[in-house]
Amino acid sequence: MSHTILRGGLVLDVGAGTAEPADILIEGDMIRELGPPGCPAPEGAAEISAARRLLHPGLVNAHTHGHGNLAKGMGDCWTLELLLAAAPWITGNRSTEDKYLSTQLGAVEMVLKGCTACYDLSFEWPLPTAEGLAQAAQAYADVGMRAVVAPMVADRSFYEAIPGLLDALPPPLQERVTELRLPPAEVTLPAIRAALRGWSSDRERVRPAVAPTIPHHCSDAFISGCAELAREFDVGLHSHVAESKVQAVTGVRVYGHTQTAHLDTLGVLGPHFTVAHGVWLDEDDLARLGDKGASVAHNPGSNMRLGSGLADARAMLERRVNLGIGTDGANCADNQNMYEAMRLASFVSKVQGPDWWRWLSTREAALAATEGGARALGFAGKIGRIAPGYKADIVMLDLDHPNWLPFNDPVNQRKPTSWSIARTARRWRA
Ligand SMILES: [Zn+2]
Repeated sequence: MSHTILRGGLVLDVGAGTAEPADILIEGDMIRELGPPGCPAPEGAAEISAARRLLHPGLVNAHTHGHGNLAKGMGDCWTLELLLAAAPWITGNRSTEDKYLSTQLGAVEMVLKGCTACYDLSFEWPLPTAEGLAQAAQAYADVGMRAVVAPMVADRSFYEAIPGLLDALPPPLQERVTELRLPPAEVTLPAIRAALRGWSSDRERVRPAVAPTIPHHCSDAFISGCAELAREFDVGLHSHVAESKVQAVTGVRVYGHTQTAHLDTLGVLGPHFTVAHGVWLDEDDLARLGDKGASVAHNPGSNMRLGSGLADARAMLERRVNLGIGTDGANCADNQNMYEAMRLASFVSKVQGPDWWRWLSTREAALAATEGGARALGFAGKIGRIAPGYKADIVMLDLDHPNWLPFNDPVNQRKPTSWSIARTARRWRA
Protein backbone atom coordinates (compact mmCIF):
# COMPACT_ATOMS: atom_id res chain seq x y z
CA MET A 1 0.00 0.00 0.00
CA SER A 2 1.45 3.39 -0.98
CA HIS A 3 1.82 6.17 1.57
CA THR A 4 1.56 9.94 1.21
CA ILE A 5 2.13 12.54 3.89
CA LEU A 6 0.76 16.08 3.78
CA ARG A 7 3.09 18.26 5.80
CA GLY A 8 2.77 21.68 7.39
CA GLY A 9 -0.94 22.42 6.91
CA LEU A 10 -3.68 23.57 9.26
CA VAL A 11 -6.29 20.83 9.56
CA LEU A 12 -9.86 22.02 9.98
CA ASP A 13 -12.23 20.29 12.38
CA VAL A 14 -15.57 21.62 11.16
CA GLY A 15 -17.55 20.55 14.23
CA ALA A 16 -15.12 22.11 16.70
CA GLY A 17 -14.47 25.17 14.53
CA THR A 18 -10.72 24.79 15.01
CA ALA A 19 -7.76 24.19 12.74
CA GLU A 20 -4.63 22.74 14.26
CA PRO A 21 -1.19 22.27 12.68
CA ALA A 22 -0.88 18.60 11.82
CA ASP A 23 0.69 16.29 9.27
CA ILE A 24 -1.68 13.84 7.62
CA LEU A 25 -0.50 10.33 6.78
CA ILE A 26 -2.50 8.75 3.96
CA GLU A 27 -2.41 5.05 3.11
CA GLY A 28 -3.80 4.33 -0.33
CA ASP A 29 -6.85 6.64 -0.43
CA MET A 30 -7.49 6.53 3.33
CA ILE A 31 -6.36 8.83 6.14
CA ARG A 32 -4.26 6.68 8.46
CA GLU A 33 -3.38 9.22 11.15
CA LEU A 34 -2.92 12.85 12.05
CA GLY A 35 0.41 13.51 13.71
CA PRO A 36 2.34 16.48 15.08
CA PRO A 37 4.22 18.54 12.47
CA GLY A 38 7.38 16.71 11.45
CA CYS A 39 6.21 13.33 12.68
CA PRO A 40 7.96 10.31 11.14
CA ALA A 41 6.49 8.77 7.98
CA PRO A 42 6.91 5.26 6.54
CA GLU A 43 9.92 4.84 4.31
CA GLY A 44 9.20 5.80 0.72
CA ALA A 45 6.14 7.89 1.59
CA ALA A 46 5.53 10.68 -0.91
CA GLU A 47 5.68 14.09 0.78
CA ILE A 48 3.41 16.94 -0.22
CA SER A 49 3.90 20.38 1.29
CA ALA A 50 0.75 21.94 2.69
CA ALA A 51 2.55 24.97 4.10
CA ARG A 52 0.35 28.10 4.26
CA ARG A 53 -2.67 25.94 3.43
CA LEU A 54 -5.89 25.29 5.30
CA LEU A 55 -7.02 21.72 4.77
CA HIS A 56 -10.76 21.08 4.91
CA PRO A 57 -12.77 17.96 4.19
CA GLY A 58 -14.11 17.95 0.63
CA LEU A 59 -17.58 19.50 0.52
CA VAL A 60 -20.54 17.29 -0.35
CA ASN A 61 -23.18 18.60 -2.76
CA ALA A 62 -26.35 16.85 -1.59
CA HIS A 63 -28.44 17.71 -4.66
CA THR A 64 -27.53 18.49 -8.23
CA HIS A 65 -28.34 17.50 -11.80
CA GLY A 66 -25.46 16.63 -14.11
CA HIS A 67 -27.71 17.06 -17.13
CA GLY A 68 -28.36 20.71 -16.23
CA ASN A 69 -24.87 22.05 -16.83
CA LEU A 70 -25.36 22.80 -20.53
CA ALA A 71 -28.48 24.86 -19.77
CA LYS A 72 -26.94 27.65 -17.69
CA GLY A 73 -28.53 31.05 -18.18
CA MET A 74 -31.42 29.77 -20.27
CA GLY A 75 -34.06 31.43 -18.12
CA ASP A 76 -34.35 34.23 -15.61
CA CYS A 77 -37.72 35.08 -14.10
CA TRP A 78 -39.25 31.64 -14.09
CA THR A 79 -40.79 29.45 -11.43
CA LEU A 80 -40.08 25.76 -10.96
CA GLU A 81 -43.16 24.98 -13.04
CA LEU A 82 -42.01 27.19 -15.94
CA LEU A 83 -38.59 25.53 -15.72
CA LEU A 84 -40.21 22.08 -15.85
CA ALA A 85 -42.26 23.15 -18.88
CA ALA A 86 -39.02 24.29 -20.54
CA ALA A 87 -37.14 21.08 -19.69
CA PRO A 88 -37.50 19.43 -23.13
CA TRP A 89 -36.14 22.60 -24.74
CA ILE A 90 -33.19 23.21 -22.42
CA THR A 91 -32.11 19.64 -21.68
CA GLY A 92 -33.60 17.53 -24.49
CA ASN A 93 -32.04 15.92 -27.57
CA ARG A 94 -28.86 14.88 -25.81
CA SER A 95 -26.44 12.41 -27.33
CA THR A 96 -24.47 10.06 -25.13
CA GLU A 97 -21.47 12.36 -25.60
CA ASP A 98 -23.55 15.36 -24.50
CA LYS A 99 -24.55 13.51 -21.32
CA TYR A 100 -20.91 12.83 -20.50
CA LEU A 101 -19.83 16.39 -21.27
CA SER A 102 -22.65 17.98 -19.25
CA THR A 103 -21.87 15.88 -16.18
CA GLN A 104 -18.12 16.36 -16.57
CA LEU A 105 -18.51 20.14 -16.77
CA GLY A 106 -20.40 20.22 -13.46
CA ALA A 107 -17.90 17.87 -11.83
CA VAL A 108 -15.00 20.11 -12.86
CA GLU A 109 -16.73 23.16 -11.42
CA MET A 110 -17.53 21.37 -8.17
CA VAL A 111 -13.93 20.22 -7.68
CA LEU A 112 -12.62 23.72 -8.44
CA LYS A 113 -14.91 24.98 -5.66
CA GLY A 114 -13.81 22.52 -2.99
CA CYS A 115 -16.49 19.88 -3.49
CA THR A 116 -15.44 16.24 -3.84
CA ALA A 117 -18.75 14.33 -3.75
CA CYS A 118 -22.29 14.88 -5.00
CA TYR A 119 -25.76 13.37 -5.30
CA ASP A 120 -26.71 13.69 -8.97
CA LEU A 121 -30.30 13.18 -10.14
CA SER A 122 -29.67 12.45 -13.79
CA PHE A 123 -32.40 12.71 -16.41
CA GLU A 124 -32.69 10.89 -19.71
CA TRP A 125 -35.59 11.10 -22.12
CA PRO A 126 -37.78 9.11 -22.37
CA LEU A 127 -36.34 6.68 -19.81
CA PRO A 128 -33.03 5.92 -18.11
CA THR A 129 -30.47 3.78 -19.88
CA ALA A 130 -27.56 1.80 -18.46
CA GLU A 131 -25.37 3.47 -21.08
CA GLY A 132 -26.39 7.02 -20.14
CA LEU A 133 -25.93 6.40 -16.43
CA ALA A 134 -22.56 4.78 -17.10
CA GLN A 135 -21.51 7.92 -18.98
CA ALA A 136 -22.44 10.09 -15.99
CA ALA A 137 -20.59 7.74 -13.64
CA GLN A 138 -17.54 7.79 -15.93
CA ALA A 139 -17.52 11.59 -16.00
CA TYR A 140 -17.30 11.70 -12.18
CA ALA A 141 -14.67 8.96 -12.11
CA ASP A 142 -12.58 10.76 -14.76
CA VAL A 143 -12.68 14.05 -12.81
CA GLY A 144 -11.90 12.19 -9.59
CA MET A 145 -15.10 12.87 -7.67
CA ARG A 146 -17.23 10.58 -5.59
CA ALA A 147 -20.89 10.60 -6.62
CA VAL A 148 -24.26 8.99 -6.23
CA VAL A 149 -25.95 8.91 -9.63
CA ALA A 150 -29.72 8.41 -9.48
CA PRO A 151 -31.87 8.10 -12.60
CA MET A 152 -34.57 10.78 -12.24
CA VAL A 153 -37.79 9.09 -13.28
CA ALA A 154 -41.59 9.42 -13.40
CA ASP A 155 -44.55 7.84 -15.13
CA ARG A 156 -46.63 11.02 -15.50
CA SER A 157 -45.70 14.06 -17.54
CA PHE A 158 -45.74 17.51 -15.96
CA TYR A 159 -49.05 18.15 -17.75
CA GLU A 160 -50.67 15.03 -16.31
CA ALA A 161 -49.27 15.66 -12.83
CA ILE A 162 -50.96 19.00 -12.13
CA PRO A 163 -54.73 18.56 -11.82
CA GLY A 164 -56.59 20.61 -14.43
CA LEU A 165 -53.48 21.77 -16.30
CA LEU A 166 -54.02 19.63 -19.39
CA ASP A 167 -57.70 20.61 -19.57
CA ALA A 168 -56.76 24.28 -19.38
CA LEU A 169 -54.70 24.09 -22.58
CA PRO A 170 -56.23 24.78 -26.01
CA PRO A 171 -56.82 21.49 -27.92
CA PRO A 172 -53.86 21.88 -30.36
CA LEU A 173 -51.50 22.32 -27.40
CA GLN A 174 -53.12 19.41 -25.58
CA GLU A 175 -52.21 17.26 -28.53
CA ARG A 176 -48.62 18.47 -28.57
CA VAL A 177 -47.99 17.86 -24.87
CA THR A 178 -49.35 14.33 -25.09
CA GLU A 179 -46.16 13.68 -27.12
CA LEU A 180 -44.33 14.28 -23.83
CA ARG A 181 -46.07 11.34 -22.19
CA LEU A 182 -43.65 9.06 -20.34
CA PRO A 183 -43.40 5.28 -20.64
CA PRO A 184 -45.41 3.32 -18.06
CA ALA A 185 -43.96 1.81 -14.89
CA GLU A 186 -43.79 -1.59 -16.59
CA VAL A 187 -41.18 -0.17 -18.97
CA THR A 188 -39.22 2.24 -16.77
CA LEU A 189 -38.85 0.09 -13.63
CA PRO A 190 -37.17 -2.79 -15.54
CA ALA A 191 -34.86 -0.22 -17.20
CA ILE A 192 -33.79 0.99 -13.74
CA ARG A 193 -33.37 -2.58 -12.57
CA ALA A 194 -31.13 -3.35 -15.53
CA ALA A 195 -28.97 -0.29 -14.78
CA LEU A 196 -28.68 -1.22 -11.08
CA ARG A 197 -27.89 -4.83 -11.83
CA GLY A 198 -25.26 -3.98 -14.45
CA TRP A 199 -23.58 -1.18 -12.44
CA SER A 200 -19.89 -1.51 -13.17
CA SER A 201 -18.38 1.49 -11.37
CA ASP A 202 -16.56 0.99 -8.08
CA ARG A 203 -19.32 1.74 -5.53
CA GLU A 204 -16.82 3.33 -3.17
CA ARG A 205 -16.39 6.01 -5.85
CA VAL A 206 -19.62 6.21 -7.84
CA ARG A 207 -22.72 4.38 -6.74
CA PRO A 208 -26.27 4.31 -8.07
CA ALA A 209 -29.57 5.32 -6.43
CA VAL A 210 -33.17 5.84 -7.56
CA ALA A 211 -35.00 9.16 -7.87
CA PRO A 212 -38.77 9.17 -8.43
CA THR A 213 -38.59 12.84 -9.34
CA ILE A 214 -41.66 14.43 -7.72
CA PRO A 215 -44.24 12.31 -5.82
CA HIS A 216 -47.34 13.37 -7.78
CA HIS A 217 -45.47 12.93 -11.07
CA CYS A 218 -45.44 9.24 -10.19
CA SER A 219 -48.26 6.77 -9.65
CA ASP A 220 -48.25 5.07 -6.24
CA ALA A 221 -47.30 1.79 -7.90
CA PHE A 222 -44.36 3.52 -9.57
CA ILE A 223 -43.10 5.08 -6.31
CA SER A 224 -43.46 1.74 -4.51
CA GLY A 225 -41.61 0.03 -7.36
CA CYS A 226 -38.74 2.53 -7.05
CA ALA A 227 -38.64 2.02 -3.25
CA GLU A 228 -38.55 -1.75 -3.71
CA LEU A 229 -35.66 -1.48 -6.16
CA ALA A 230 -33.79 0.77 -3.70
CA ARG A 231 -34.28 -1.83 -0.95
CA GLU A 232 -33.37 -4.76 -3.17
CA PHE A 233 -30.12 -3.17 -4.37
CA ASP A 234 -29.41 -1.38 -1.07
CA VAL A 235 -29.19 2.07 -2.65
CA GLY A 236 -30.58 5.51 -1.81
CA LEU A 237 -33.92 7.04 -2.76
CA HIS A 238 -34.23 10.76 -3.55
CA SER A 239 -37.24 12.89 -4.48
CA HIS A 240 -38.18 16.56 -4.90
CA VAL A 241 -40.73 17.05 -2.12
CA ALA A 242 -42.60 20.24 -1.17
CA GLU A 243 -40.26 22.26 -3.37
CA SER A 244 -42.77 24.81 -4.69
CA LYS A 245 -46.12 26.05 -3.46
CA VAL A 246 -47.74 24.42 -6.51
CA GLN A 247 -46.29 21.09 -5.34
CA ALA A 248 -47.51 21.60 -1.78
CA VAL A 249 -51.04 22.49 -2.92
CA THR A 250 -51.12 19.71 -5.52
CA GLY A 251 -50.04 17.16 -2.93
CA VAL A 252 -52.99 17.99 -0.70
CA ARG A 253 -55.34 18.08 -3.72
CA VAL A 254 -54.18 14.70 -5.06
CA TYR A 255 -53.56 12.81 -1.82
CA GLY A 256 -55.83 14.52 0.70
CA HIS A 257 -52.71 15.18 2.79
CA THR A 258 -49.12 16.29 2.24
CA GLN A 259 -46.67 14.62 -0.13
CA THR A 260 -44.54 13.57 2.85
CA ALA A 261 -47.48 12.03 4.74
CA HIS A 262 -48.36 10.15 1.57
CA LEU A 263 -44.81 8.87 1.08
CA ASP A 264 -44.89 7.74 4.71
CA THR A 265 -48.05 5.69 4.10
CA LEU A 266 -46.27 4.09 1.12
CA GLY A 267 -43.40 3.09 3.44
CA VAL A 268 -40.86 5.18 1.57
CA LEU A 269 -39.36 7.20 4.44
CA GLY A 270 -36.18 5.93 6.10
CA PRO A 271 -32.47 6.66 6.56
CA HIS A 272 -31.87 5.93 2.90
CA PHE A 273 -34.39 8.59 1.81
CA THR A 274 -33.54 12.18 0.87
CA VAL A 275 -36.02 14.99 0.33
CA ALA A 276 -34.77 17.62 -2.10
CA HIS A 277 -35.74 21.19 -1.12
CA GLY A 278 -38.52 20.68 1.47
CA VAL A 279 -39.45 24.38 1.36
CA TRP A 280 -43.11 23.74 2.20
CA LEU A 281 -42.74 20.92 4.73
CA ASP A 282 -45.02 21.36 7.73
CA GLU A 283 -44.32 20.33 11.33
CA ASP A 284 -45.90 16.92 10.88
CA ASP A 285 -43.78 16.31 7.75
CA LEU A 286 -40.59 17.27 9.59
CA ALA A 287 -41.47 15.01 12.53
CA ARG A 288 -42.07 12.09 10.17
CA LEU A 289 -38.77 12.68 8.36
CA GLY A 290 -36.82 13.16 11.60
CA ASP A 291 -38.33 10.11 13.29
CA LYS A 292 -37.47 7.96 10.28
CA GLY A 293 -33.88 9.25 10.08
CA ALA A 294 -34.35 10.80 6.63
CA SER A 295 -32.35 13.65 5.09
CA VAL A 296 -33.23 16.95 3.47
CA ALA A 297 -31.01 18.43 0.77
CA HIS A 298 -31.41 22.17 1.31
CA ASN A 299 -30.93 24.18 -1.90
CA PRO A 300 -31.22 27.84 -0.91
CA GLY A 301 -29.83 29.28 -4.16
CA SER A 302 -32.22 27.40 -6.41
CA ASN A 303 -35.14 28.05 -4.06
CA MET A 304 -34.56 31.80 -4.35
CA ARG A 305 -33.75 31.72 -8.09
CA LEU A 306 -37.09 30.00 -8.80
CA GLY A 307 -39.05 31.92 -6.15
CA SER A 308 -39.91 28.62 -4.47
CA GLY A 309 -39.54 30.07 -0.99
CA LEU A 310 -37.17 29.86 1.96
CA ALA A 311 -36.77 26.44 3.59
CA ASP A 312 -36.61 26.40 7.40
CA ALA A 313 -33.33 24.62 8.11
CA ARG A 314 -33.57 25.33 11.85
CA ALA A 315 -36.92 23.55 12.08
CA MET A 316 -35.36 20.59 10.25
CA LEU A 317 -32.48 20.38 12.73
CA GLU A 318 -34.89 20.73 15.66
CA ARG A 319 -36.80 17.71 14.36
CA ARG A 320 -33.55 15.72 14.00
CA VAL A 321 -33.77 15.66 10.22
CA ASN A 322 -30.33 15.10 8.72
CA LEU A 323 -29.46 18.31 6.87
CA GLY A 324 -27.38 18.41 3.70
CA ILE A 325 -26.81 21.36 1.38
CA GLY A 326 -27.03 21.30 -2.40
CA THR A 327 -26.58 23.66 -5.31
CA ASP A 328 -29.32 22.05 -7.44
CA GLY A 329 -28.76 22.00 -11.21
CA ALA A 330 -26.85 24.82 -12.90
CA ASN A 331 -29.97 25.53 -14.99
CA CYS A 332 -31.69 26.90 -11.86
CA ALA A 333 -28.74 27.74 -9.58
CA ASP A 334 -26.36 29.30 -12.14
CA ASN A 335 -23.36 27.45 -10.77
CA GLN A 336 -22.10 24.44 -8.81
CA ASN A 337 -20.35 26.46 -6.09
CA MET A 338 -20.81 24.81 -2.70
CA TYR A 339 -19.06 27.68 -0.86
CA GLU A 340 -21.81 29.93 -2.19
CA ALA A 341 -24.50 27.37 -1.29
CA MET A 342 -23.24 27.19 2.31
CA ARG A 343 -23.18 30.94 2.57
CA LEU A 344 -26.72 31.24 1.19
CA ALA A 345 -27.94 28.53 3.61
CA SER A 346 -26.66 30.63 6.46
CA PHE A 347 -28.06 33.90 5.06
CA VAL A 348 -31.49 32.49 4.17
CA SER A 349 -32.13 31.53 7.77
CA LYS A 350 -31.29 35.07 8.85
CA VAL A 351 -34.03 36.68 6.76
CA GLN A 352 -36.74 34.35 8.08
CA GLY A 353 -37.23 36.10 11.39
CA PRO A 354 -35.61 38.34 13.98
CA ASP A 355 -34.89 35.55 16.50
CA TRP A 356 -31.14 35.32 16.03
CA TRP A 357 -30.89 32.18 18.16
CA ARG A 358 -32.85 30.31 15.48
CA TRP A 359 -30.53 31.37 12.67
CA LEU A 360 -28.27 28.79 11.06
CA SER A 361 -24.70 29.49 12.09
CA THR A 362 -21.98 29.23 9.48
CA ARG A 363 -20.53 26.29 11.41
CA GLU A 364 -23.89 24.49 11.20
CA ALA A 365 -24.00 25.22 7.47
CA ALA A 366 -20.46 23.83 7.07
CA LEU A 367 -21.37 20.70 9.03
CA ALA A 368 -24.42 20.20 6.80
CA ALA A 369 -22.21 20.61 3.71
CA THR A 370 -19.77 17.96 4.94
CA GLU A 371 -21.00 15.34 7.43
CA GLY A 372 -24.70 15.95 6.73
CA GLY A 373 -24.21 15.53 3.00
CA ALA A 374 -22.03 12.45 3.55
CA ARG A 375 -24.88 10.80 5.46
CA ALA A 376 -27.44 11.69 2.77
CA LEU A 377 -25.17 10.11 0.11
CA GLY A 378 -24.74 6.93 2.17
CA PHE A 379 -21.07 7.71 2.84
CA ALA A 380 -21.40 8.46 6.59
CA GLY A 381 -18.18 7.71 8.45
CA LYS A 382 -16.22 7.63 5.18
CA ILE A 383 -16.21 11.22 3.95
CA GLY A 384 -16.99 14.66 5.41
CA ARG A 385 -14.20 14.80 8.01
CA ILE A 386 -10.43 14.81 8.12
CA ALA A 387 -9.90 11.99 10.61
CA PRO A 388 -8.30 8.54 10.73
CA GLY A 389 -10.37 5.99 8.80
CA TYR A 390 -11.91 8.59 6.50
CA LYS A 391 -11.20 8.86 2.78
CA ALA A 392 -8.47 11.38 1.97
CA ASP A 393 -10.87 13.73 0.16
CA ILE A 394 -9.02 16.85 1.26
CA VAL A 395 -9.20 20.40 -0.09
CA MET A 396 -6.28 22.81 0.33
CA LEU A 397 -7.01 26.53 0.51
CA ASP A 398 -4.28 29.11 -0.02
CA LEU A 399 -3.93 31.18 3.15
CA ASP A 400 -2.01 33.85 1.21
CA HIS A 401 -5.12 34.66 -0.85
CA PRO A 402 -6.55 38.15 -0.06
CA ASN A 403 -9.80 36.50 1.13
CA TRP A 404 -7.88 35.29 4.16
CA LEU A 405 -6.16 38.53 5.07
CA PRO A 406 -6.47 39.42 7.85
CA PHE A 407 -7.76 36.53 9.93
CA ASN A 408 -10.25 37.80 12.47
CA ASP A 409 -12.93 35.23 13.13
CA PRO A 410 -13.19 31.59 12.12
CA VAL A 411 -16.80 31.65 10.94
CA ASN A 412 -18.06 35.17 10.38
CA GLN A 413 -15.36 35.93 7.86
CA ARG A 414 -16.46 33.56 5.18
CA LYS A 415 -16.34 34.63 1.58
CA PRO A 416 -17.92 32.70 -1.28
CA THR A 417 -14.56 31.11 -1.98
CA SER A 418 -13.01 30.73 1.44
CA TRP A 419 -13.35 30.70 5.17
CA SER A 420 -10.82 31.24 7.87
CA ILE A 421 -9.74 30.20 11.30
CA ALA A 422 -8.54 33.12 13.38
CA ARG A 423 -7.15 31.39 16.42
CA THR A 424 -4.90 29.07 14.48
CA ALA A 425 -3.98 31.82 12.06
CA ARG A 426 -2.53 33.80 14.91
CA ARG A 427 -0.69 30.74 16.04
CA TRP A 428 0.61 30.30 12.50
CA ARG A 429 2.02 33.81 12.43
CA ALA A 430 3.64 33.28 15.82
ZN1 LIG B 1 -33.51 19.01 -8.35
